Amino acid sequence: MPRHDVLVIGAGLAGQRAALAAAETGVSVGIVSKVHPVRSHSNAAQGGINAALQEGDSWESHAFDTIKGSDYLGDQDAISIMCREAPEEILHLEHLGVPFHRNEEGKLGTRAFGGASQARTYYVADITGQAIMHVLYEQLMKHSDSVSRYEEYFTTSLALDDSGSCVGAVMRNIRDGSMELFEAKNVILATGGNGQVWQPTTNALICTGDGIAQAYRVGAPLMDMEMIQYHPTTLAGKGFLITEGARGEGAHLLNAEGERFMEKYAPNKMELASRDVVSRAEQTEHCARSCSSAATSPVSTSPASRSTSSPVTTTRWVGSRPTSTVRPRSQASTPPVRQRACPFMAATASAQTRCSTR
Ligand SMILES: Cc1cc2nc3c(=O)[nH]c(=O)nc-3n(C[C@H](O)[C@H](O)[C@H](O)COP(=O)(O)OP(=O)(O)OC[C@H]3O[C@@H](n4cnc5c(N)ncnc54)[C@H](O)[C@@H]3O)c2cc1C
Repeated sequence: MPRHDVLVIGAGLAGQRAALAAAETGVSVGIVSKVHPVRSHSNAAQGGINAALQEGDSWESHAFDTIKGSDYLGDQDAISIMCREAPEEILHLEHLGVPFHRNEEGKLGTRAFGGASQARTYYVADITGQAIMHVLYEQLMKHSDSVSRYEEYFTTSLALDDSGSCVGAVMRNIRDGSMELFEAKNVILATGGNGQVWQPTTNALICTGDGIAQAYRVGAPLMDMEMIQYHPTTLAGKGFLITEGARGEGAHLLNAEGERFMEKYAPNKMELASRDVVSRAEQTEHCARSCSSAATSPVSTSPASRSTSSPVTTTRWVGSRPTSTVRPRSQASTPPVRQRACPFMAATASAQTRCSTR
């Protein structure tokens, strides 16, 4: 039976970073992943990581933006720790070998991200997550004397002792189907999110919330399960992300009338308002257009009026859900859009009222 001081279940960015920190203290570590670690969903993170590293910035400002961006529902203690430690962590990752973007002066360069009062996002082109993951994986390989990697092992349940403490987990070796109990003095769950509960989603097919369910089954309380962030820009219907970096670098969002509609919802921050504000504005635009069109005509076409070089958001209804696409203006065509009465109108209107009072 494999035994470790620390068993990390999950080998995305969270799990690999935790395993590395444990290994650096000299204890025996096991890290488990149902896919090859560098295929974990953290690969999808494109845009970058926020940290208050620049002169004139402060972790308090970063923390305030984060708390405000969570509609004051985020865990403020956790946010404070994250924002205080982020600058040091970025430098640490850079020293480990993550090739963060540098500006013309050769210093670590930033881009603006939604909801941030300053440009404080550190990034590696549009592959930030992938770049960090490969560097962490290399670092773990350096500790191969104390870190055992269990790649393509599926955790099926957590093991508790008689006092209710977690002392290991049951694993299925995906390659040969065998089941084994792993024993550990400490178990860290880093199995990622449950994005596949939602549709559409930018989360990979493997984001099925396994660890959340396993912890729940052995009595762990869960909180805020309904809190899910919708990214404002994806390919319609598919959930492929169009990185927030696009808006950070200056892309505009236009509605079907060619209007830069964020002027109505967040006149100061515009497209760089926090994600929920932008997503809600898009939803309101979809609903306003669909409901008014439905009242006059069951079918309409996208208007031809378009201005210069900004991308275009078009709306399509897939089942009962609206989806949007942002395309460069040169590729924008005007396909017929089928409009329906909007089932979300009431909910969106109230959400918008809340938003505009902030
Ligand atoms: C499209 C997209 C873009 C994003 N962009 C950014 C960004 O620019 N900046 C940013 O900060 N954040 C971004 N995020 C969020 C960020 O990617 C995630 O919060 C982060 O990667 C989560 O890391 P994780 O290690 O917790 O989970 P994951 O990377 O999902 O890793 C989970 C691990 O658990 C393992 N696992 C799960 N279940 C089991 C099981 N039953 N048995 C064994 N192993 C299991 C998996 O194999 C995997 O190794 C983005 C998210 C998405 C969806």
